[in-house]
Amino acid sequence: MKAAPTSPVPWRTLTAVSTVAFALACGPRSESNGIAPPREIADWCSFQGIRLGAEPGVVAGGTSCDRLASILTEYLRAYESRWEDVAALRDWTVRVVADRPTEGARPGSFFAGETFWDSRVIDLYQGSLSVLPHEVHHVALGPRSADHQGWCPFGDWEAREGILEEHAYLGCPAGRN
Ligand SMILES: [Zn+2]
Repeated sequence: MKAAPTSPVPWRTLTAVSTVAFALACGPRSESNGIAPPREIADWCSFQGIRLGAEPGVVAGGTSCDRLASILTEYLRAYESRWEDVAALRDWTVRVVADRPTEGARPGSFFAGETFWDSRVIDLYQGSLSVLPHEVHHVALGPRSADHQGWCPFGDWEAREGILEEHAYLGCPAGRN
């Protein structure tokens, strides 16, 4: 959604991700791959009690783990202000990856983020940090949420907040704000 913001929101100024067009937000719907691939992490820190790591390419691009933490904190606070406090997240690790995760992606599509249940790992592409609330929603709802059934209110909220427009991906009618 590209509606004019009515209030200053940190993620609009900290990142350009809200304008990123993407087709897929998460992993294969089969959920057959619950194990996160190994990744080299150059910088570790945390946000809101959640372990956070950044790949070498992310750091080389001029971003520090602490900066990522401040951005992701805003997204998590936004999520928890409307949805539930996801206590289970404190057992998870979020990794910010330099390149778009493509495992299982179809041609022309890519994953902005992936949730690996068995590993309790969320991978986020560095250009798509705004997909964090989507992945957090998966963690809140459990593995059976892979089909996004009943997610239209969530999609409405994301769009209304200017976080992400994914009505089409969720199979929901747009413009229900
Ligand atoms: Zn999803």
